[in-house]
Amino acid sequence: MPETYTNYVDGEWRESESGETFTVHNPADTDEVVAEFQQSTAEDARGAVEAAAAAQEEWADTPGATRGKLLRSTAKRMDDREEELTETLVQEEGKTRSEANGEVNRAINIFYYYAERAMDYAGERKQPSSKGQNLYTVREPMGVAGLITPWNYPIAIPSWKSAPALATGNTVVLKPAMDAPTVFAKVVECIDEAADEVGAPDGVFNFVVGSGEDVGSAIIDHEKVDTVSFTGSRAVGEMVYEQATDQHKRIQTELGSKNPTVIGPSADLEEAVNVVGSGAFGVTGQACTATERVIVHDSLYDDFVDQLVEYAEDLDIGPGLDDPGMGPHVSESELESTLDYVETGKEEGATLEYGGEKLEDGEHENGYFVTPTVFSGVENDMQIMQEEVFGPFVGVTPYSDFDEAVELVNDVEFGLAAGIVTQDHSEANRFIQDVDFGIVKVNEATTGLELHVPFGGMNASSSETYREQGEEGMDYFTIIKTVYDNY
Ligand code: NAD
Repeated sequence: MPETYTNYVDGEWRESESGETFTVHNPADTDEVVAEFQQSTAEDARGAVEAAAAAQEEWADTPGATRGKLLRSTAKRMDDREEELTETLVQEEGKTRSEANGEVNRAINIFYYYAERAMDYAGERKQPSSKGQNLYTVREPMGVAGLITPWNYPIAIPSWKSAPALATGNTVVLKPAMDAPTVFAKVVECIDEAADEVGAPDGVFNFVVGSGEDVGSAIIDHEKVDTVSFTGSRAVGEMVYEQATDQHKRIQTELGSKNPTVIGPSADLEEAVNVVGSGAFGVTGQACTATERVIVHDSLYDDFVDQLVEYAEDLDIGPGLDDPGMGPHVSESELESTLDYVETGKEEGATLEYGGEKLEDGEHENGYFVTPTVFSGVENDMQIMQEEVFGPFVGVTPYSDFDEAVELVNDVEFGLAAGIVTQDHSEANRFIQDVDFGIVKVNEATTGLELHVPFGGMNASSSETYREQGEEGMDYFTIIKTVYDNY
């Protein structure tokens, strides 16, 4: 029997008032039920916000060292359950074992990182302009933080929002995505035990599972929610942004993208193929930072396309627990969306070099498996080069001079992660300066991030209000008070 999870509200596990549940399935074998969750309502969400609001003052008054202890104790418990968390993530989201283990360790380290930051993050002392004065800033918590997260990094993203919010004295209501809520439900168990250990107030952290329309929207609307942090698709993010700003709430949205990698004429071909292959097909292309556009110097173009096709052909595709080269899509709708874009690409006149096929035999029979897609001969104004596909899918196009490459890179509404593969230092630095993307990678895949530096997009990829992660991730959850203390 799969485990049934309830919501976590006001320090206790609670069923939804709806009395209804839904099941989460394994995308590698849809006959397998991973867990059962509450189909929560707006009323459940409002109850969670009330609990968070009631706990907020006490949590804000709790010393930073104790707040840090909650996070450290959570991290330690996650560490003890590393393998279980890894396997749960594989089973509900489809990542390979190695990919899932990397994400789980990232989440553990995020909790450890903010545990330390909680102790010394407070504000800044400044030189006064007159004698007998202390002039300084104090960072105060925003209050109640409403966090809404996607399915594609279902342990890392809720962690990188929850940990800095808690570290800075906010209380939290988190709504995870319905496709993959199980792995973070296990983290909530760790938070619950850690909260008991450190004596944190009930309601410091709340977890409500349900749809965006019901639970997500009710969190944003609640007058006691002071700040909202959302990660997800552009369409939903833009709606959520308007809803929150209409109510004068602080909101941060980090959204989709259409990430490019340029292959300069000096690039080592093998390195270029590996950088693009891992950036495009790793995590089944289901990353906001995944490479989807490859812009290759015409001296390397034909060889690059041939070798990228070989890379794609060589990937073994299967259930993530066996740790293959690539796992399945998370859901039927994501699989169908990728297959639809393959048809669009053909209709738009791009050349399908490889892939784009659903796998249906043997171990693939009951899963959402697809072969990685490589299109060549793409034009930048094609739909497949402008819209996020969110699957293992790339289009390759040639360029002849550097300015043309930069123009192609920037000719898109999104702006999250851009890369270049080159041995030319000056070319790399011009690229860093000229591209309108929040993350720039030189000789590295567009995917893959460090947790202690800021992360976020430009243009349609982000509200551009604040950055997540690193110390900047804490700024978002705080407001500055400036003190002129004359003595
Ligand atoms: P999604 O927008 O469908 O859902 C994201 C979250 O919003 C889910 O929890 C969902 O239930 C909730 N939601 C849906 N409708 C809502 C509403 N009306 N009000 C409030 N909440 C609502 O996105 P997804 O399919 O879960 O995730 C994939 C998308 O996320 C991709 O576009 C990807 O690029 C993006 N993403 C961005 C980043 C980043 O940091 N930039 C990271 C990961 C994923």
